[in-house]
Amino acid sequence: MKICVLGAGVIGLTTAWCLAEAGHDVVIVDRHTSTAKDASAANGAQLSYAFVAPLASPATLKKLPSLLLSPESPMRIRAGLDPALISWGLRFLFACRPAAVRETVAAQLALAALSRSELARLSQSLMLSFGLRTAGKLVIFRRQSEFDAARRAITANPGEDGQQALTPAECLSLEPALRLDAGELAGGIFTASEQVGDCAAFCAGLTSRLKRQRNVEWVLGTEVRGPVRSGGRLVAIDTDKGHVQADHFVLCMGAASAAFAKACGFHLPIYPLKGYSITLSPATGAPVLRHSVTDMERKLVFAPLARDDRTAIRVAGIADLERGTTIDAERLDVLRRASAELLGIEATGDVEPWCGLRPTTPDSRPIIGWSPLDGLFINSGHGMLGWTLACGSARLTADMIECKRSVTTASAFALRRAA
Ligand SMILES: Cc1cc2nc3c(=O)[nH]c(=O)nc-3n(C[C@H](O)[C@H](O)[C@H](O)COP(=O)(O)OP(=O)(O)OC[C@H]3O[C@@H](n4cnc5c(N)ncnc54)[C@H](O)[C@@H]3O)c2cc1C
Repeated sequence: MKICVLGAGVIGLTTAWCLAEAGHDVVIVDRHTSTAKDASAANGAQLSYAFVAPLASPATLKKLPSLLLSPESPMRIRAGLDPALISWGLRFLFACRPAAVRETVAAQLALAALSRSELARLSQSLMLSFGLRTAGKLVIFRRQSEFDAARRAITANPGEDGQQALTPAECLSLEPALRLDAGELAGGIFTASEQVGDCAAFCAGLTSRLKRQRNVEWVLGTEVRGPVRSGGRLVAIDTDKGHVQADHFVLCMGAASAAFAKACGFHLPIYPLKGYSITLSPATGAPVLRHSVTDMERKLVFAPLARDDRTAIRVAGIADLERGTTIDAERLDVLRRASAELLGIEATGDVEPWCGLRPTTPDSRPIIGWSPLDGLFINSGHGMLGWTLACGSARLTADMIECKRSVTTASAFALRRAA
């Protein structure tokens, strides 16, 4: 079968690999002349297999007014009166129900476990080098009520991840790079099995392996404009360089997936959550960050990133509901200030400023399944966890296209549950 993958971010590339590995002829189309140039370029680097809780939750609902109105908030609406945002927002409120959260966490944990094993398989079999390391993750809490809730959750579900609740003093002794006073913390949860890895380096490695495959064709530097239908079926895509035909198409265009779906005549509830990152190169002698750290209150992540002969630190966060990709210096300053406060690193020199649009669904679950338009499969909407969930989502996509997986297994990610 000839299958065309729309988008060459981490989701499109992993999908293309699984399909090519299964023996299909694969065409990869992207508007950029190289791969992983958008949301997959400089993300938080956390492979977060145990922390998959959705953004929509009863706790978020309680904090929503202050989250949206405070100038220091990690989440702001900067989209004006956008009908797509209003519709997304209403679905988000519905997804805050405890039952919906439980369903999402169960589905995401299963997909995360599949992703972890698929990532290990891919990186070993293809000998990919992207700084994959089981660094462990420390989540620090500043509010007692939130720490108590997290502690109760790990006691109720001990799981296989060996999660531990730590006192503030234990957090600081586990991660000496943290320059906080114990009095500023309520506690932390440490998960020794969590990993870190450089998503852009992974994508670069996978791209070079895909370029050696005889059954993979590249159509880069090409803008997808819309669908070409025949007899109610998608038979080709219209691009600025002509039509690309295939038997099936897989939609992996990240934050732009919703616009393509609209042109195909159906609604895809994916909205961009704009985030920022900086990458720090600590001076020689500065304390090395040993684990990845998440500051729950500020929704910021800090991850040690292997780079040639040194370790850099990726600082990422912020979730503004906004479509543009211009870097706002004021939002970037939030990351600079946090680096100084938490790690004692003054981010003054070249910090590789970056922003990207997370393609986010109201319930934070990706959409993986056949679309209402015959011939078009969707693998998109991975939000905050696209790097973590990429390899499992690609496996699921290839298996579903080949009818190897029952619809029930995948129903948690079907478009219908989110539409
Ligand atoms: C600040 C930040 C921190 C993050 N941290 C983490 C983390 O620590 N862990 C984690 O798991 N995830 C993290 N994420 C999320 C993760 O990076 C994303 O979910 C993931 O990169 C999405 O991948 P994608 O392939 O769907 O989208 P993209 O990487 O955006 O790829 C979409 C592709 O589609 C192409 N495209 C779009 N429109 C068109 C068109 N019309 N024609 C042709 N091509 C088109 C684009 O050029 C692009 O290459 C973070 C994201 C951000 C922004």
